[in-house]
Amino acid sequence: MALIVQKFGGSSVATPEKLKAAARRAVHQFQAGNQVVVVMSAMGDRTDELIALANQIHPEPEPREMDMLMAVGEQMSVALMAIAIHAQDCRAISLTGAQAGIRTDSVFSKAKIKTVDTTRLRGELQKGQIVIVAGFQGVDEWDNITTIGRGGSDPTAIALAAALKADRCEIFTDVDGIYTADPRIVPNARKLDRIDYDELLELASAGAKVMQSRAVEIAKRFGVPFHVRSSANESEGTLVTNIQEIEQVDIRGAALEMNEAKVTLCDVPDRPGVAAAIFVEITRANINVDMIVQNVSAQGATDLSFTVLKTDLPAARRVSEELARKIGAGRVEVDEDIAKVSVVGIGMRSHAGVAGKMFEALAKNKINIRMISTSEIKISVVIDGGAGEQALRAVHDAFGLGKDSGDKH
Ligand code: ADP
Ligand code: ASP
Ligand code: MG
Repeated sequence: MALIVQKFGGSSVATPEKLKAAARRAVHQFQAGNQVVVVMSAMGDRTDELIALANQIHPEPEPREMDMLMAVGEQMSVALMAIAIHAQDCRAISLTGAQAGIRTDSVFSKAKIKTVDTTRLRGELQKGQIVIVAGFQGVDEWDNITTIGRGGSDPTAIALAAALKADRCEIFTDVDGIYTADPRIVPNARKLDRIDYDELLELASAGAKVMQSRAVEIAKRFGVPFHVRSSANESEGTLVTNIQEIEQVDIRGAALEMNEAKVTLCDVPDRPGVAAAIFVEITRANINVDMIVQNVSAQGATDLSFTVLKTDLPAARRVSEELARKIGAGRVEVDEDIAKVSVVGIGMRSHAGVAGKMFEALAKNKINIRMISTSEIKISVVIDGGAGEQALRAVHDAFGLGKDSGDKH
């Protein structure tokens, strides 16, 4: 008997029909003699609708109450999934994140899972039934309901698979697996049979929302291989595991991020400690910074730019304006019309070579580069928002990642 964790994303349970189909998958595994834990997302765009509803009432609602509200979407899904499974004459019980033993810190809307107490989960499994757990939510040490960041049902599924030492973890979504780039934007993107944790981690943090990056982090830390597959067909999907089991290539994939904004502090005094002051304050406000660029200073002052998620922009702007006053900097500029394009590959041998090829592809398309950053296995550029999709296709082509390219990957 194997223990299987199956996660169904929002589009895979968007309608009663799709929800019933997801239930059939779980029942199928259960009737084959396995123990089955199902992790559910909210149906379709329910989470966005809940956020929009709150925003009609208050422009910046209190984070605690937002988490209380957002957790509702997943709670609906688990109850309906249990009902769908009962309708197929199979036993099932639904649990909230708290009931499933998922404990988090108290950073509302982006809480981190701290521990999973599997006592209740194991007890419910032992009763001979499918156990359905609400993704995306947990509870802090004062029993407040928390949510763990957009796309957070992915980390729930992986954390449960790790805690239960599951034999198999399957992430069901609306594409056939992980592709060399978002197949909705790059029509000739190729499905990958396998990908390394680090490569997917970089792609996810570069905007490939097929898998939430924290989920990949947890999978890597606890050594949880998992499959990303379509909920609409039986195809094999993509296995995410470690590199020893995968053929190395220069570049594995490309990604586009459209949800970031750039903040620039102008005329920042050029003296030691200023950058520290800025980023200590930003971190204190729980804002995650992605890229940072400081210009060459002229006459003792410099411009300092960084990128943050658009959802963090109001807070980032507020903190930056307060700081600019405190340290005697100039105005704070904000640009929401940016895109970030990245290429990722663990086998990237020559950064200069990869960067050269990437920049050339952008130049050929007359796309101007505004920021650049590199990590060991990734090169990212920030460009104008309007050029994002064209840039992704150009870069994907330049590295021969597509189905129709002659390169073998
Ligand atoms: P779910 O609701 O199942 O969690 P998401 O919408 O969060 O699904 O993620 C799936 C989407 O991710 C796909 O529909 C696709 O447009 C997008 N995506 C972005 N990059 C990739 C990629 N490299 N491979 C596959 N899908 C990708
Ligand atoms: N429903 C949550 C969201 O939309 C979590 C998830 O779908 O994974 O972000
Ligand atoms: Mg998702």
